[in-house]
Amino acid sequence: MRDTVLLWIEKNRGRWLGELKAWLGIPSISAQPDHAGDVLAAAAWAADYLRAIGMRVETIPTARHPCLLATTPEGMAPAGSPHILIYGHYDVQPPEPLELWTTPAFTPTVRAGAGGEELFARGASDDKGQVHCHLAALMAWKEVNHGFPCRISVLLEGEEEIGSPNLMTVVNARRDLLKTAQVLLISDTNIFADGIPSITYGLRGLIGVEFALHGAKTDLHSGMYGGTVANPAHALCEMIAKLHDANGRVTVPGFYDQPGGGVLPVTDAERQMWRTLPHDDARYAADLASPASSARPASLRWNANGPAPPSKSTASPAATRARAAKPSSPTAPASRSPAGLSPTRMPRKSATPSSPTSSPSCPPA
Ligand SMILES: [Zn+2]
Repeated sequence: MRDTVLLWIEKNRGRWLGELKAWLGIPSISAQPDHAGDVLAAAAWAADYLRAIGMRVETIPTARHPCLLATTPEGMAPAGSPHILIYGHYDVQPPEPLELWTTPAFTPTVRAGAGGEELFARGASDDKGQVHCHLAALMAWKEVNHGFPCRISVLLEGEEEIGSPNLMTVVNARRDLLKTAQVLLISDTNIFADGIPSITYGLRGLIGVEFALHGAKTDLHSGMYGGTVANPAHALCEMIAKLHDANGRVTVPGFYDQPGGGVLPVTDAERQMWRTLPHDDARYAADLASPASSARPASLRWNANGPAPPSKSTASPAATRARAAKPSSPTAPASRSPAGLSPTRMPRKSATPSSPTSSPSCPPA
């Protein structure tokens, strides 16, 4: 049954590519009010596609961009089968700066990339490509088997790139349905490398903090007062630097052993699995154009709770940032955006231009 579906998917390669290109061609930029109509158009495209698969689709308006919730109709999935919930988003990041695109962001183009022939467009790898993958798989299964393998719900939002301000309202409003899902499948993540399908089962968390330190009531001359009065900028740097030890381990008391889990210990099986992944620390650092002194061993990418990495690891990103701070003002405000809190973000490479495209709200893998 599965082989027949896979064969059918392979046979219809041109169709999938055409569909994805059509969806990618809609500039559904959630952050830019001028594109509100395009965001709606991208939602309508997905709603039509889900209907064509044979799912029941509800467009749920929010204060800004709508959510779509699609479910398999009664009788179209085996009785008693598990319920799988698929999440994704149809909005995209703004494409600026435009001059860094080799081909226009919303003119999906297949051309040579780092891994061979690749499709380039804004949203190709975040998140329309992944969502379309799920939708096309459902379409293929339905076409071949005239039904679904299990009960499936699809929840798509149009505000992920602006921080999902209305998602929780929608989730709460539909909680009776959503909570019956045994599995939540999110493909708003990366694969480890070309040709290595990956399931991301753990992510670094984010925390946003804004605080201000106050020192002397006015600017002080460094020659007259330097060294005798504590500088808030220095104090701030010290605070940030003290969040990690020299190996990048978090030093906040209790961080690793909070009730309910905190940071789960890494199992031997996981370590064994990670060792089989093709990874090269030197190349990783070079790809990120990171100076050797700030490059961390790869194990830290996945395992902040693991054994101490080799001693070649020196400056932590926090310490690097602290050194760059400018001690000139009597007040040192610190605003840490989510984007600034993910120094170990995976490079996005398969279908985006070589421009800085990291989303502040997508999970770092
Ligand atoms: Zn995303």
